[in-house]
Amino acid sequence: MGKCEIQFKADLENVSSLSVPADQDWTVFVKCSLCGEVHDKPVTMNESELLPLPPKGRTEANFVMKCKLCGRTSSMSIKSVKPYSASGEYQTVMTIDGRGFEVARWIPDRFVGAGVNDSGAEYEVEIEDLEDGWCDFDDRFDLPLSVLDIETRVI
Ligand SMILES: [Zn+2]
Repeated sequence: MGKCEIQFKADLENVSSLSVPADQDWTVFVKCSLCGEVHDKPVTMNESELLPLPPKGRTEANFVMKCKLCGRTSSMSIKSVKPYSASGEYQTVMTIDGRGFEVARWIPDRFVGAGVNDSGAEYEVEIEDLEDGWCDFDDRFDLPLSVLDIETRVI
């Protein structure tokens, strides 16, 4: 319960950082901290969407849901989002403050990748369908691009 961090790890080739834009959804499986139920359907939340918290609606959170098992309404707020750049190592990409919910697992599916070639030219790529890794070839710079051996964990 409380604060948790989503960490990501991948081997990056010619991609120096991966980021999730503020208006893009994060797909996660959540666990109720009160009854321990891990909900079997993934849910989404994003940094730019704030929802009022019942009953008074004065405070806001990025995710609000009623636990289907214990019936209590709980929430999670996104505290910080950071790009991933530590190829081959785990790095925290999101910090969450959970009030009754915690993240059991994150499913990374989309990123914006950025890189710089040997002559200093910067480029950006849309990375989608990341599940089993991602490979592409940049014709303009003649560069193979890849994001492989993807792992996530929550600490
Ligand atoms: Zn519950």
